[in-house]
Amino acid sequence: MVFHPYPDAHYCSKVCGSLCCKVSDVFVLKGEDVSYEYWSSNHPAVGRTSCGCLDEEGLCRIHEDSRPLVCRLYPYFRYQNAIMASLGCPYVREVVLPRLGSHHARDAFFKKVMDYISWEGSDSEFRQIEDRLRECKGIFLFIRGNAD
Ligand code: SF4
Ligand code: SF4
Repeated sequence: MVFHPYPDAHYCSKVCGSLCCKVSDVFVLKGEDVSYEYWSSNHPAVGRTSCGCLDEEGLCRIHEDSRPLVCRLYPYFRYQNAIMASLGCPYVREVVLPRLGSHHARDAFFKKVMDYISWEGSDSEFRQIEDRLRECKGIFLFIRGNAD
């Protein structure tokens, strides 16, 4: 069955409730160029319970702009030529994982996500992300596939 590895805006805002923009540790990598709006909206503020770039509809105001790389990649990260899929994301748990039962489906999924991830980030950025993932307390599923 054909499905998209990433959730769409409706799923994120209405089904999930923009969870990862409320609870995750959104970090910016060394040397990463994020938008002025991200910086200005995310100065330390007492009582903030979500990213300052989240709008009233539960959508990211800078989605098309330069949001942090982790936001563009989440819920998947590259880790030693495999994919770490975050089990904190309901789309991964409820939509993606039930469809990865066959080798064919898993390999197609793996190739699609790896192509996207590799296009978005550089090797030095992935090394920084791997360091953060080693310290992260989140739960991830390690997915390997045949990239060919
Ligand atoms: S946790 Fe997953 S489904 Fe929810 S907003 Fe983030 S990416 Fe979208
Ligand atoms: S920058 Fe956008 S995608 Fe990233 S945490 Fe903030 S609202 Fe969410």
